[in-house]
Amino acid sequence: LVNASRVIEGEGTPEEAWEGWDIPLHVPSVSFGDLVAPDERLVVIAPHPDDEILGTAGLLRAAHAAGRAVALLAVTDGEASHPGSTLYRPEQLALVRQQESEAALRTLGLAVEAMRFGLPDGKVSAHEVELVGLVAGLIRRGDVVVTTWELDGHPDHEATGRAVRAAAVLVGVRCLAAPIWTWHWSDVGDARVPWDRAVRLDLSPEDADAKADALLQHRSQLEADPTTGRGPILPPWARARLLRNFEVFFR
Ligand SMILES: [Zn+2]
Repeated sequence: LVNASRVIEGEGTPEEAWEGWDIPLHVPSVSFGDLVAPDERLVVIAPHPDDEILGTAGLLRAAHAAGRAVALLAVTDGEASHPGSTLYRPEQLALVRQQESEAALRTLGLAVEAMRFGLPDGKVSAHEVELVGLVAGLIRRGDVVVTTWELDGHPDHEATGRAVRAAAVLVGVRCLAAPIWTWHWSDVGDARVPWDRAVRLDLSPEDADAKADALLQHRSQLEADPTTGRGPILPPWARARLLRNFEVFFR
């Protein structure tokens, strides 16, 4: 279970507050080559379709531009994002979100096809041992793996973060963690966030634009659902925290 201090509710810490704190002042910039060496393959492991965009679109673009091999592993198909909805039923969502993910990757300019594990959305922690085995079977020495941070606040993000780190230790590869919902529940300068291990990758204007365009492909996450009365999964204030001109990773 996720610790009560990392619960995602309300609108979270506004991006204006993060801007006021000035993340680049506290988190050093690194080059793409510092994150992924010339002979390394970049493997991004996303709990839900869209996490690869929210956390790593700029890193993926940089890898592609540098001619690095890229692989994407999709842990769930994101079928649980609209409980009770008649607009999006779970079996439809699994297909819709897969298509959205493919469109988003095309928008980024990447020709990469995700390998899908199909674990149940919302219940990754119940399959954590299985996930360690799946990931360990697909990564190899010479990879750098990037996934969601194991204290990110969303149960699937945390379970995926733990499982991928365990697999990375087993295989002997480096693991980077991308905070996503962390920006929601944490406060500026929050002592629960490992700022001493944080680095940032600055995005060119072109890469930042491509990231924003790619996120627009995830329409199911951006629109309100009139059949449940719920607002979008990613309302504007959540998107603002994730469409910065840099991405942060914990080493
Ligand atoms: Zn997610």
